[in-house]
Amino acid sequence: MFSLLISGGAATPPASLRRRRHRPAASLDAVKLLVESTMAEVSSSPAADPPIQSLRRGDWVKLICGASFEDAADVRNLSLLYALAGVDCVDCAAESSIVNAVVEGLEAAMAIAPIPRPWVMISINDDEADVHFRKAGAQFCISIDFCRTPLRIRSIEPADSNDLLPTWEFDPENCPIDCARPCERVCPASAISLNMIPAEAKSPDASSPPFVLQGGVIIERCYGCGRCFPVCPYDKIRSMTYIRDVAATSELLRREDVDAVEIHTSGRRPDLFRDLWSSLGDSLHHMKLIAVSLPNSGESTVSAMNDLYSIMESDLQCHNLWQLDGRPMSGDIGPGATKQSVDFAVHLAAAHHRPPGFLQLAGGTNAHTVNSLKKAGLFRTKSNFDRVVGSASCSGGDAMIGGVAFGGYARKGVGRVLSQLPRGRLEEHPEELLLGLRVALDLVGPIKRYDPLPDSSHSH
Ligand code: SF4
Ligand code: SF4
Repeated sequence: MFSLLISGGAATPPASLRRRRHRPAASLDAVKLLVESTMAEVSSSPAADPPIQSLRRGDWVKLICGASFEDAADVRNLSLLYALAGVDCVDCAAESSIVNAVVEGLEAAMAIAPIPRPWVMISINDDEADVHFRKAGAQFCISIDFCRTPLRIRSIEPADSNDLLPTWEFDPENCPIDCARPCERVCPASAISLNMIPAEAKSPDASSPPFVLQGGVIIERCYGCGRCFPVCPYDKIRSMTYIRDVAATSELLRREDVDAVEIHTSGRRPDLFRDLWSSLGDSLHHMKLIAVSLPNSGESTVSAMNDLYSIMESDLQCHNLWQLDGRPMSGDIGPGATKQSVDFAVHLAAAHHRPPGFLQLAGGTNAHTVNSLKKAGLFRTKSNFDRVVGSASCSGGDAMIGGVAFGGYARKGVGRVLSQLPRGRLEEHPEELLLGLRVALDLVGPIKRYDPLPDSSHSH
């Protein structure tokens, strides 16, 4: 079963999905037509310019695959879909196989339609306390192969390459057999899979209970949202945190197909940020954009940003961006999740003496974010945009907010469409690709100022 990402959620599918049964099978030509009809608007507007121009105009869109999400097949197909929808950047885990998956998805998208190549960004952290860099405890031993990835699991020190790392604390056979398994239901990434099996299949011991639970956390799918931790009535799930390895990250940053990096920091430990920054050294010189993602620390946020900028400033050779992580990993929860992200943006937009750099929302962003930004006067509508660009002073018309990054909400939207597909290349299923693309365009379009989508019955 192919589960592109997020399952669950009782939201009514978009009208385009409800019409699915009545539509004839789509082809890649239909996908190309839909992209070109959307991009026709784009091609006559500055939105076809490089991503940095999108930031200047305030219509930058970034897809967040997830700093800890490492299901390469899903990352590839997500990248493909959202590249076709016109995102400027795809942000992924700092792991070479995941970067390869993103690149493959982008290349597949560019083979379908003449789209500009989005930038590839990798996400790293300076402190293991960052919630984006954790996993739910797995029930199985994590092999050394896993540890060879740029993950460094602080609490585990393997003795040699033949060892298995210690079993983490979540063992499904310790779960009460009558547990309603709320962990499975709350996981937005379908990363927990538990099955009840007859105990005899595992152990012939007559004193054993007749059934046991088998399965556990699918480690590459877990992106550390933490929703399973509090719902377990028996406290069986643990969080394991990690920091991306600096040497492996530097190597990744030197790849020609990696364009940008994002450093997640709390902003409260400039010493850790400084260490990471200096360790990355000249590998940062290859970047087109360096982003710093930080939470809202209230009145101390701007001073933290200034501290961080002073560390970067002397060696910053490209544009920089501040990712305002309003409510981390929550955009898929509901309409209200976007409030903290927009409140953060309002706070910073009004702040004096903040350091240079584009501002971009994340953490709680969803389909309601654009309207919230408009209400706050921070979203540059098409008419405002035209007025500014049409004016003689357009060179000074940078948007207050550079754009928006979508994570969980973007993944959930297309996940509902694609969850029934066999695992594999999305372009081999053009009808589902078309459906997923319409969902992606519904999210990206309001920021990019695309015209409303044509009715699906006209799209092929
Ligand atoms: S609920 Fe979140 S933390 Fe728990 S397994 Fe799923 S993705 Fe991981
Ligand atoms: S909720 Fe807790 S006890 Fe129940 S199945 Fe999940 S991990 Fe096991």
